[in-house]
Amino acid sequence: HLRERDGYAPLYSDFDNFYIRRLQLRINDCFRRPVTGVPGRFITLLDRTSEDFNLSFKLTGTTTETLNMSSYNYLGFAQADGECADAAEQSIRKYGISFCSSRADIGTSDLHLDVEKLVAHFVGMEAASIHSMGFVTNASVFPALVGKGCLLISDQLNHASIRFGARISGSVIDMFKHNDMMDLERVLRERISQGQPRTHRPWRKILVAVEGLYSMEGTMCNLPGLVALKKKYKFALYVDEAHSIGALGPKGRGVCDYFGISPSEIDILMGTFTKSFGANGGYICASKAIVDKIRVTNAGTIFGESPTPAVLTQIATSLKIIAGEIAPGQGEERLQRLAFNSRYLRLGLKRLGFIVYGHDDSPIIPLLLYHPAKIPAFSHEMLKRKISVVVVGYPATPLISSRVRLCVSAAHTKDDLDRLLAACDQAGDVLQLKFSSGIAGGA
Ligand code: PMP
Repeated sequence: HLRERDGYAPLYSDFDNFYIRRLQLRINDCFRRPVTGVPGRFITLLDRTSEDFNLSFKLTGTTTETLNMSSYNYLGFAQADGECADAAEQSIRKYGISFCSSRADIGTSDLHLDVEKLVAHFVGMEAASIHSMGFVTNASVFPALVGKGCLLISDQLNHASIRFGARISGSVIDMFKHNDMMDLERVLRERISQGQPRTHRPWRKILVAVEGLYSMEGTMCNLPGLVALKKKYKFALYVDEAHSIGALGPKGRGVCDYFGISPSEIDILMGTFTKSFGANGGYICASKAIVDKIRVTNAGTIFGESPTPAVLTQIATSLKIIAGEIAPGQGEERLQRLAFNSRYLRLGLKRLGFIVYGHDDSPIIPLLLYHPAKIPAFSHEMLKRKISVVVVGYPATPLISSRVRLCVSAAHTKDDLDRLLAACDQAGDVLQLKFSSGIAGGA
């Protein structure tokens, strides 16, 4: 073994500070909770010993069923029964568990081709390519699209997978302030002219990357503003719809549907199947020419395992339900339920006097705790009331804007949300989280 006294840093050394800081805050208790069963309306936590502030769990053998406000199960498709689960079960009987190959070798089946057609049609683009992980979709598609000599302009709060893909693409990266169109225009002006005559573009390609709905903020991208700037400055636009596809718009088709903007205005609509569809994986929707390029140049698809049969069937079935092709009325009902629940919970929290971030129609509702010490305390107050929530702190947020990220689902009933509101009301008093006496009305 390499020894520290010989001048070598141990391989785990960079982990030390972060890990120990968390231990000191005693917040490990609210992260990495092991669970069992379906992450649906309720989620079952496996109890573990409280003194076990270690990353390997010591389970006590008992469980706690909690109201689940943590999973990205926006449309309630994470369930072990119903149309999706029945179809997925049949799919396993026919295709097995895995294709045991990458897409590029012998891992492209009729299921993949069907899902790609369905997704492209649903999103409203010419073609789609699907990938086995959402993270890897971003991580490997940016390097397939842009590289040396290209400029990639990224929203300051873009997801880690976008930042990862951007970095390994080798392009020059610049950032603009979150959702600030004036700042984006400033970056474009500076980067396009860069001391050159205004007619000269010193970049092979310019790509602007944003998210449809930001998962830590609950903010929606300013799509009309982006499209207007795109027309003026002629860049390509990449929108990550991980949290907006299936969750926003009257037909659940994401931010274009929400704003009434034609998908043809955008170059690339990326999304994941892990949220609204209760499945796994990611997709890219674009013109056929772009999708063909991605198919043959992205490392994730060429060298990684292809999406699996049950997952593909879950995607196809949930998509058809949302689109009303099977179980007519069910998709619409789920979309309406999600829209109602999102507004109901947000408004309820505001009325109680909490500071919540984001757009009124966002199913992600960040409730501000501010002080990092309130992270474990809030989580504990909720667990006492058998509610599980995701709490977020530094480095995922700035140190003093720690928050709870509540994820609303169509699977929640009004009673569930009332139960949550009552629990937040009590926890808010204990932890002094209410910053006003509440609003009288209006979200
Ligand atoms: N993009 C965004 C905006 C995300 O929030 C996430 C994950 N939550 C991903 C991509 C990665 O997707 P996946 O979890 O499906 O790998």
